[in-house]
Amino acid sequence: MTLLQKVKNAVRKRSIHVCYVNTGSCNGCDIEILACLSPRYDIEQYGIYVHNNPREADVILVTGAMSAQWIDKLPDLWDKVPEPKAVVTIGNCPISGCAFNRPGSLVDPPVSKYIPVAAAIPGCPPRPTEIINAILSVADILFDNYETRLEEKR
Ligand code: SF4
Repeated sequence: MTLLQKVKNAVRKRSIHVCYVNTGSCNGCDIEILACLSPRYDIEQYGIYVHNNPREADVILVTGAMSAQWIDKLPDLWDKVPEPKAVVTIGNCPISGCAFNRPGSLVDPPVSKYIPVAAAIPGCPPRPTEIINAILSVADILFDNYETRLEEKR
């Protein structure tokens, strides 16, 4: 491995851009994401930055039970995210629909039917530490020797 690649591997893992999408949650999981930004958990100390532009994101966080209006929008949003990219779903809703998945409801989980999911964190809602752990674990896989892996695919 070249020195440049070693530097890239180290630096990129300290600069993870996250965009979050609510596909119809009760906001419980979204509040836990916001807690990650608070001084107590201080997500930026791990090099994770939250904003809302999918074109600049590395990791997409998805909350919610996949309501009908997101069925077309979510794959479109995923297409806008540049490579390398990964999805982490937060809570039980993107996995099973949780409390919203009842007869007659207009939700269609799981989110993994529509976009590829790298990690799914269960919980109603999961803890901020679990959210941070999941982002860091997928970023390790996402950025490690990205250029080399790309070359090997060609
Ligand atoms: S998993 Fe629970 S807390 Fe999270 S959005 Fe669904 S119902 Fe709300």
